[in-house]
Amino acid sequence: MSFADLGLSEDLLKAVEEAGYTEPTPIQAQAIPPILMMKDIIGIAQTGTGKTASFVLPMIDVMASGRRRALMPRSLILEPTRELAAQVAENFEKYGKNHDLKMALLIGGVQMGDQVKALNEGVDVLIATPGRLMDLFERGKILLNGCELLVIDEADRMLDMGFIPDIEFICDKLPENRQTMLFSATMPPPIEKLANKFMSNPKRIET
Ligand code: AMP
Repeated sequence: MSFADLGLSEDLLKAVEEAGYTEPTPIQAQAIPPILMMKDIIGIAQTGTGKTASFVLPMIDVMASGRRRALMPRSLILEPTRELAAQVAENFEKYGKNHDLKMALLIGGVQMGDQVKALNEGVDVLIATPGRLMDLFERGKILLNGCELLVIDEADRMLDMGFIPDIEFICDKLPENRQTMLFSATMPPPIEKLANKFMSNPKRIET
């Protein structure tokens, strides 16, 4: 299996080559094609398996093929910690450097001012921790009804950290007609319940 077999655009294949990757990891090989086909997926995978690129690469292609909506974010990636959110943002910058996609990193521990400014200028992708996102939403600084792509990453860690009610609140604000990707190292019952409630016929990928 090579990256060229997965359906990614030439631009993305170039980014992958520049990153020095010679072949897709198992989660990438299995997750990228259905994500490009706009399907919901549950990826059961640990960190270190190449999980981040398995959603960031196809999301860039999906967004590049769609039309930008004025000021409304089109994608939301939820991460349990600031560090993970920052890492995903770095990945987005690395793989998406040939694409004109604007990104906002919405994490706690930094002032809201710059985040609000970025939001006001219009962004394509929000990469956020649930707490800061809720805070900005409740202050009326974010519109989520244009987010047609949602990633819930490290869902089991979100559960351990007590974020499930926040995630349910956020999911309810997104359009029903969206694509949802959930990644988790394990699938405890509350995560299965979350997936049943907020995903549509997800394809399950275990590596
Ligand atoms: P992740 O599981 O997303 O945290 O990725 C773990 C590490 O694997 C990161 O440092 C990536 O840069 C690297 N990586 C991702 N995909 C590949 C690949 N196909 N080949 C080699 N390394 C990769």
